[in-house]
Amino acid sequence: MEAKQRIDYLRTAIKYHSKRYYENDAPEISDFEYDRMFEELKSLEAAHPEYYDPTSPIHRVGGKALDKFEKVKHEVRMGSLTDVFDFDALVDFIRQVKAETGDNTEFSVEPKIDGLSVSLKYEKGILSVGATRGNGDVGENVTQNVKTIRTIPLELTSPIDITVRGEVFMPHASFEKLNRQKEEDGEALWANPRNAAAGSLRCLDSKETAKRGLDIFVFNYQSGSFDDSSVTTHKETIDKIEELGFKPIPMLCISSNEDDIVNAVKSLGDKRASLPYDIDGAVIKVNSLEKRKELGEGTSTPKWAVAYKYPPEQKKTKLLDIVVQVGRTGVLTPNAVLEPVKLAGTTVSRATLHNIDIIRDRDIRIGDNVIVQKAGDIIPEVVSSVKEDRCGSEEPYEMPERCPSCGGELTYDDAKNFVDDGEDFTLGALRCTNPACPAQLARNIEHFASKKAMNIEGVGGKLVKALLDNHLIHDPSDLYYLTKEEIASLDRMGEKSAENFISSVEASKKSGLGRLIFALGIRHIGEVASAELASKFGSVEAIYDATVEEITETQDFGLVMAESVVDFFKKESTKYIISKLQSAGVVTSEEIKELSNEFEGLTFVLTGTLENMTRDEAAEMIKARGGKVSSSVSKKTDYVLAGEAAGSKLTKAQSLGVKIIDKEAFLEMCK
Ligand code: NAD
Repeated sequence: MEAKQRIDYLRTAIKYHSKRYYENDAPEISDFEYDRMFEELKSLEAAHPEYYDPTSPIHRVGGKALDKFEKVKHEVRMGSLTDVFDFDALVDFIRQVKAETGDNTEFSVEPKIDGLSVSLKYEKGILSVGATRGNGDVGENVTQNVKTIRTIPLELTSPIDITVRGEVFMPHASFEKLNRQKEEDGEALWANPRNAAAGSLRCLDSKETAKRGLDIFVFNYQSGSFDDSSVTTHKETIDKIEELGFKPIPMLCISSNEDDIVNAVKSLGDKRASLPYDIDGAVIKVNSLEKRKELGEGTSTPKWAVAYKYPPEQKKTKLLDIVVQVGRTGVLTPNAVLEPVKLAGTTVSRATLHNIDIIRDRDIRIGDNVIVQKAGDIIPEVVSSVKEDRCGSEEPYEMPERCPSCGGELTYDDAKNFVDDGEDFTLGALRCTNPACPAQLARNIEHFASKKAMNIEGVGGKLVKALLDNHLIHDPSDLYYLTKEEIASLDRMGEKSAENFISSVEASKKSGLGRLIFALGIRHIGEVASAELASKFGSVEAIYDATVEEITETQDFGLVMAESVVDFFKKESTKYIISKLQSAGVVTSEEIKELSNEFEGLTFVLTGTLENMTRDEAAEMIKARGGKVSSSVSKKTDYVLAGEAAGSKLTKAQSLGVKIIDKEAFLEMCK
């Protein structure tokens, strides 16, 4: 691949994964993989200065402040850190700093807590603002939520004006408790403590944040009144911070000796597995505040500090079995059943094996000792099998010839027809062809009730299984016919949860046609396509009558998608389910918006990259609703639709006070 092509690919991929990580708190890849892409992009950009682009993710800090919170402009920029991945690079950093600031320069070594950065501002000793890092310049005002963290003092021991920075994190004990509860409630689990901490601190309801057991370590003094001559080093600021009532960064050590510094980093790494919280590295900082000033700041990281990133923790354990899970669209995924092993602070007994090719390539056999690693994901990975531990009784694995759930026939997916329909999808994957397969049915019902579909709370794997096992439901529409008594009679469901369930089911009836289409789980039809279908056709009846040709006229619909819609609505089972939904009072129509002029007189400016939507598509949607799209922001602009890596237009909109919306808000307006 040409360097330019690779650079473009990496920039796009990194922006996408940054958004998933920082804004949605739901990463799709491990930190390790992300770091690898980031490092590759950095070295490619260094080797090809001709492709310099100021909007490249290598020049940016973190995510962006979400619109759901008030914005806070940071007085002192909240930067990121340059990463180093081996001791040679760490020693280079130490030597370079010493060359500029003298051989006696001291460094501090402290753990890099894997949470999210916050700044805490105190006025006359009283907590006034707590904010997330956001893009480094502008963060989210999360003061109410921050106040629920018990280790954050609301009042300091001295009535001074000061801003400090710390890392909010979720201890392992809180994380395991939270995910256990989520599992019981049938909700999606948090991928890791870091994402759980970020999601919890950014809840709109601070009562919810209060329940999550968050904690903090304060690691920096940003600005304020103890910027006086008595405090000249980082170590002294941390001591002062402790005196003021904060919980300071632990295990801090100071040295000017290269070997001592490297050993301190190693020693923190050794402690990593036994700490009650996650650390993902060590931070090495110049101790003298004066020397820090001398060294200065780079574009997004200081020149006086680096983060040493530990490689993902790996453990050896035994592969007891391989079990196959059948997904919503019938895809079979092999999962490893492991002898439980403590890894990166949590107990691990399952790992995904993705597909049979990976099992074959890595020669993984049942009974093998395998190396597993957890690199930021909830489901760890089987990295390899330990061939030298084999005793001869290990068995190579083959995928089943028929569906393990229903015994139905399997097919290989045609890779040519690949369209991502939001489910884990492996090219050439094995798929069960039986539409009545119970495993698929269970997954379909879970999908139907999920947040982005009909949003019925509490309908997770366990409840669906109980409902199916007790023959209380046979398809998703049956959810609307359940009684409070039936729900309350199920294991672990009390009166209160039954009531909540019934009211959530009731509320979901008004979800709208777009969500309903998405909830029905039509292959190749995701959230955006469902919304487009709904606004073009307006009712399920109109979709019944539509031909493939008519459907291909819908925004972004190709032949495969249109055929999938027609096939789905042609089925007797679809008609049956929809008629039951209608009888239960589920709304199956909505106004056809295409012809309306709801955006008439409104001017939009589009900036940045929108997830799963091009700017041209967004512009078409605006024009179809009578709105205008302009290329520059002025006082006359009504809305700026801002995506990832939005640049000067966003800044201008902020300074002019123009309303800024993200893709979700835009789709909501288009409904
Ligand atoms: P960073 O690794 O560049 O480090 C900076 C952060 O470290 C600071 O914001 C600070 O909050 C924190 N920190 C914790 N303890 C500290 C201490 N003692 N002193 C100073 N700072 C301390 O962090 P980043 O910019 O937030 O994120 C980059 C990392 O996030 C990547 O290396 C990657 O691992 C992860 N990431 C993962 C994905 C993914 O998809 N998995 C996506 C984006 C980012």
